[in-house]
Amino acid sequence: MASLCLSPLVRSPRGQWRETLPTCKLERYYLDDTDMTLHYSISGLEFFCSNSKTAVYKGSLKLPDQEDASVFEHEADMYEIHLRDLQDRVIPHCYGLFQYNAEDGKVSSFLVLGDCGSPIDDPRNFTNLYKSKVIDAVYFIHFAGFTHGDLSYHNILNKDGCPFIIDFETAKPHVCGVKEKLFIGEERKELGCTEMMRCAALVRAWANSYVKLEGIYTFLRVDLRRGNMDYLLSHLRHCNSDPTVYRPYVEQLVEQVEARRERYRNIPLEERLIVPE
Ligand SMILES: [Zn+2]
Repeated sequence: MASLCLSPLVRSPRGQWRETLPTCKLERYYLDDTDMTLHYSISGLEFFCSNSKTAVYKGSLKLPDQEDASVFEHEADMYEIHLRDLQDRVIPHCYGLFQYNAEDGKVSSFLVLGDCGSPIDDPRNFTNLYKSKVIDAVYFIHFAGFTHGDLSYHNILNKDGCPFIIDFETAKPHVCGVKEKLFIGEERKELGCTEMMRCAALVRAWANSYVKLEGIYTFLRVDLRRGNMDYLLSHLRHCNSDPTVYRPYVEQLVEQVEARRERYRNIPLEERLIVPE
């Protein structure tokens, strides 16, 4: 129901209109079935002119304070409609959106959610299991057809070892391009979804991008491949005019990285493929 508030009280300077204007909230009269919750107010009213049946006043119209309310309405829609099935699993239980219409026409909105703990902090403290749970929580939201839009530590709460995602102010419809699961500790790969890549980086899901040959050099993990030995040794010329002396050590490092790569590559396809619920 749209409403209008008038202030201050105005009297006609010439006394034709002695009655005061109402200060209570006026409800909008609709000519059709349209009904919107918008609250207008007009301040600084002055008498403008009149005839025998009507009077005209002039004042400043304050447009509806929609932003606060609509932001919450969008968020409430996310909890109560679009992601309803994820309540109590990866998003908090939502008890509803409550609104208070103040005298000045301002709308205060309160979205009431179940307690889901505190925001997560340092991902170095996360176990691989916890990292997987965060990734899965975001997958669920994506496969329900939405991106979060503002994924950060502040918007991931931890309750008894379970992550809950909050703050869907900027959530948008989304068709997720992720086809295969991300396994914690595997080498960084393209997932086909920007927000999932962000999520993986946030929880430090990938293997470290750098690998140290202790005391000598730090290689990029992606460079450590069989068949790439000459290129790898060329980085060590500054340590020794004959970098081939390091060959056995570099080969050992390459074998470690390749073995790990192989382990992830050999995960059966049925475990890798994502089947949205
Ligand atoms: Zn996605």
